[in-house]
Order: sequence, then C-alpha cells, then structure tokens
Amino acid sequence: MGIAIPFDNSYARLPPGFHARVAPKPVAAPRVVKVNHALAAELGIDAGALETAEGAAVLSGAAAAPGSEPIALVYAGHQFGQFVPRLGDGRALLIGEVVDGSGRRRDLQLKGSGITPYSRQGDGLAALGPVLREYLVSEAMHALGLPTTRSLAIVTTGESVYRETELPGAVLTRVAASHIRVGTFQYFAARGETENLRALADYAIARHQPDAVGAPDRYRRLLEGVAKRQAELIARWMLVGFVHGVMNTDNMTVSGETIDYGPCAFLDAYDPATVFSSIDRGGRYAYGNQPAIGQWNLARLAECLLPLLSETEAEAMEQATGALSLYADAFNAAYARGLLARIGLPEGTGDDRPLAEDLLKRMQAGGADFTATFRGLSAILDGGDAATVSSGFRDPAAFDAWARDWKARLSRDGASPGERAEGMRRVNPAFIPRNQRVEEVIAAAVGRDDFGPFEAFLSVLARPYEDQSEAVRWADPGPAAPYRTFCGT
Ligand code: AMP
Ligand code: MG
Repeated sequence: MGIAIPFDNSYARLPPGFHARVAPKPVAAPRVVKVNHALAAELGIDAGALETAEGAAVLSGAAAAPGSEPIALVYAGHQFGQFVPRLGDGRALLIGEVVDGSGRRRDLQLKGSGITPYSRQGDGLAALGPVLREYLVSEAMHALGLPTTRSLAIVTTGESVYRETELPGAVLTRVAASHIRVGTFQYFAARGETENLRALADYAIARHQPDAVGAPDRYRRLLEGVAKRQAELIARWMLVGFVHGVMNTDNMTVSGETIDYGPCAFLDAYDPATVFSSIDRGGRYAYGNQPAIGQWNLARLAECLLPLLSETEAEAMEQATGALSLYADAFNAAYARGLLARIGLPEGTGDDRPLAEDLLKRMQAGGADFTATFRGLSAILDGGDAATVSSGFRDPAAFDAWARDWKARLSRDGASPGERAEGMRRVNPAFIPRNQRVEEVIAAAVGRDDFGPFEAFLSVLARPYEDQSEAVRWADPGPAAPYRTFCGT
C-alpha cells in the first residue's frame, strides 16, 4: 500500500448521533485528472502517490486508505429561509482529518462519492463541470487571500451523472478547517439535544476558539469568534466582488472559511443587486444582501446557543444581541478599511469613505467593471492614460470628475505615487475567475477532455495581483451578457 495519509480523526470520535459510517463503494473507472501538489505537501501527503491507481481508488471513494474512517456528517439548515431539520452530507464523505505542517487540523472530504444516509432523493454524485468550477474558484479565492476551503484533487469516475443531460461524473477532494456549520448546531438545537449541542460547541471551541477551551464564558466567546470571522469573511467577499449565491445556514462555517462553491460567481459590472443563481428568484443572496444575510445566519446560531450561554434567559439574550452588534461593527470596520485600501488611502487619516463610495456609485451608474476599474487606478498613478479606466464607464466624464477629487485627496497625503500604486496593486487583483473564462475552460475539459485551458487559467489565478502581461485575455470580462449559475456540484 503506497498511500500513507497521516490521519487523526477527531470528528469520528464524537457520539454516534453526529455522523453515519459509510462503506467504500466501487467506481467504474476512476482517473486522477488533477492533484494540488502544493496543498498535498502542506498536508504531509505524497502527491505522486495520489496520482497512482491506488490514489484514484482512494480519491474516488472506492477504497479507504489506512487510517481513514469515512463518515457522512449530519446537519440541518435554513434553505432560502425555510428550516429543514435534517440535511447532512448527501453527496460528501469525510474520509478523515490530518494535522498539517503548521499544526492546523484539516478535514479531507470527498464530494460526489455516492449516496449516504443523508442523500434524501439525491444520487450522491457530482458532475465534472461543477467539480472543476469549485476547484478553480476555491483555489482562486485562496490566492486572493480569502479564507476558504481548498481543493486537493479531482478524479473522474468513468460513470455518468444524470442532470438535465447525461454528464461525466467526478469526485472533488475538499480540504477544510472543519465542516462544522451553523446548520450543525441547528440540527441538535431543533431536536432539543442539549448534551449533544454542548458536545458540539466544546468540539468547535477546541478546533476554532482554542483560547476559550475550558473557560466559563467559552460559548459566548465561540459565538463572538464566529461573528468576527464571518464579518471579516463577508467583508472580503464584498471587496473582491464575490457572490456566494447560496448562503443557507448549512453553508456558513464556524471556522470562517468560504464553503460550498455552487452557484457562486464574481461581479463584472458593479451592481449591488447582482444575482447569478438561477434558483435565487427573490434575490435573497444578491451581492449587496450578503452582509445582512450573514447577520441573519449568525442570529440563527445565537438562538441555538442560548441554552448554553447563561442560565438566565435575559443574560443569554444580552450575549446573543452583543454578538450580533459585534458582527455589524466588525463588518463595517473591515469593509471600510479594505475599500479605502483599494483607492490607496490608509485608514484613519480623515473621513474618506464617502470618496470611495462615490466611486462605487459612479461605477454602478456607468456599468463599469468592478475589478478592472480598481486595478486601473494604479496605472493612472504611474502616469498611464486615465481613458483606459474612464472608457469603461458609459459616461467617461463621471469617472474623470471622481478621479480629479481622488487625486486632490491623494496630494494631501505623503506617499509617493509609485509607492501608492504598488500598494494598491497588492489589494486590487488583476485576475479573478471571470465567468466567461470559467465556462470556457470547463467546456474544454468536459467536452473535449482537454484540461490544458483549465491548467492555464489555474496558474494565472494563482498570482492574481501580478500583472502577467502574457495573460491579459484571462482578465477580459468579455461581452456584457446576463450570466446564470446553477446549484448541484
Ligand atoms: P447545497 O445546496 O450544495 O449546500 O446542498 C444542500 C443539501 O443537499 C446538502 O445536504 C447536500 O448534501 C444535499 N445534496 C445536494 N446535491 C445532492 C445530490 N446530488 N445527492 C445527494 N444529496 C445532495
Ligand atoms: Mg451545502
């Protein structure tokens, strides 16, 4: 046996009500099409071994590597506002945990490896297209510097998956700080299983709030930790123009990592009302609604924790309310800091937020591209032609007027234009997973078995803040066209 993964499985040791054991099942013709070598090294796993036939068996769920204890995790969740008392891993399997080179405990999960006790009407499978999409977007988010689950490998199964049409099946190996969701707490809270709820909270504290282990106020600190991490995460989403698309409570982690790349997509033109997901008809998860929905989800977590927070109801409520306002404050601070950095201004040197927000308003009115506009600002400071930015606005004069105010503001600040332009390039990406390019590389892989474009795009996205002049085509938003995404990885 060549596969040696240093498993150390803690979730499997939680009480039986937390998960269901799932036996490996054969897969027709598993073929490894991608291994993330850098991530494998971080995890202490030999990437070469993952690329063998034995690796294909393990990564498809056909065989369990030594030390692996495959389990499906149970959870509940509010889906588009409707509470579903039992969801769980219907198409995913936690094969185990490893402690990485930096001492961080990471989950290894297969996505699309077949039915589990929580599959409900689903087939437990994933199609290659959505698997490639999750790999690409999650790794792009990581390179952009956002907390996110990672992607370790993709295996095609040689089997068909039936959606609207017949599609090639695939399994993604996802790596996460954990898979504890708001919905995991909701599952036990809704069943009135307070001891399991407490066991879950203590487990989550050990993993994500280690400073609070054993402390009398540890549940409050856990809730506040989640509030802060989610506020900062969602601020980062807003700052890079990321639309998650399905922020159900079962898709919100306690770790603060972005999870579940289904219908997500990045903004091209800036518009807070942007919705990509075909099933989000009411725009509940529109770009501009994300901060508020994060707080709504957090309120659901706070409700679950009430019985643990304090014996007196009033005091528990006070702590819960405090966490919600902490979320709002943390979001506002992180968002303001990030937005100012995008226009090259440090925080706390004056009230510059209206200036930054004025640019957003003009971008919205002018149909301007979110990513390209911010990236273009550095070139202007370097002496480039402002028309390359203003031409992206329906009314270029609207941008020029803003740029005059902006330059006047910068002239009152000490930094040299060159230094400032450099600093801005570190926060304004040149490369994001542009929707049309994501579709293009998926079509090549799925339709022609050509993974070349996928690999090329992936390597561009690994260095999003570098100019990469040979890669300009990957930065092009393409023709403005409505873009629709679908759930169902
Ligand atoms: P999601 O919208 O991707 O967060 O998934 C919501 C729930 O539906 C989770 O419990 C999934 O495990 C389950 N689910 C989604 N697709 C499938 C599928 N093809 N087979 C079984 N369960 C699924
Ligand atoms: Mg989910």
